[in-house]
Amino acid sequence: MKSDLSFAEKYPACRKAAGLLTDLLFPRRCPVCDRPVQPFGALICGSCRDRPVRIGGATCRRCGKMLQDARTEYCRDCASIPHRYRKGAAVFAYRSVSGAVYRFKYEGRREYADYFAGEMADLLKEKLRSGYFERPDLLIPVPLSKERLRRRGYNQSGLLAECMAKSTGIAAETASLCRIRNTKPMKEMDLSDRRSNLNGAFHVYGNAVKCKKILIIDDIYTTGATIDACAEALYGAGASSVCFMTLAIGVQAERPEYAQ
Ligand SMILES: [Zn+2]
Ligand SMILES: [Zn+2]
Repeated sequence: MKSDLSFAEKYPACRKAAGLLTDLLFPRRCPVCDRPVQPFGALICGSCRDRPVRIGGATCRRCGKMLQDARTEYCRDCASIPHRYRKGAAVFAYRSVSGAVYRFKYEGRREYADYFAGEMADLLKEKLRSGYFERPDLLIPVPLSKERLRRRGYNQSGLLAECMAKSTGIAAETASLCRIRNTKPMKEMDLSDRRSNLNGAFHVYGNAVKCKKILIIDDIYTTGATIDACAEALYGAGASSVCFMTLAIGVQAERPEYAQ
């Protein structure tokens, strides 16, 4: 009988040994301090584990941002913007992981995806248990344009979605949603410029998202302009609901120093 399983899938012990050997030859770096992880074999140093600040307490009911005033339901952005996505959540406060996210995106630290996606998968499971999210059918990463993907060599959000798929059993779909236009960096743009910059930037090919509940995966949530533009394209292709989960999110009135 012909088997479609790869060698590593058939022999998980071999895969584990291969992973340990890789860690031995190329020591895994800690996402927080960027030094080889202590103890060996862990995904983050024991002493760095508590440094990233987790989102908690009163959060915006739409985007999941931490609220400065616990008596309000929505953050200032969500109170004034009619978002296209349904709701979202994030693991860490942006400022506490900004260096880590920068290295993950721009300095080739793909290995951070294992730790980051593990944290995102844990939060997703918690949000499913509490009923905050319905179980999505597909995880879809925010795509890079072909040109940026070629230059960077990988899509950091794609790595997150693929790692999350392994630990949640929810499929990652990376081929349907595409960025068909390269957008300008948005770090200096205000909200309306961000939105017009993203107009028509995304397109969905095929019908894999039709009648599906989608969870968009990205590294940072800033104003929601990117997630909204993706949601617009996904709803246009027949998705039944679109929510998001990101690794990091700003607190109210905080803006990352860099963007997509
Ligand atoms: Zn460390
Ligand atoms: Zn909000």
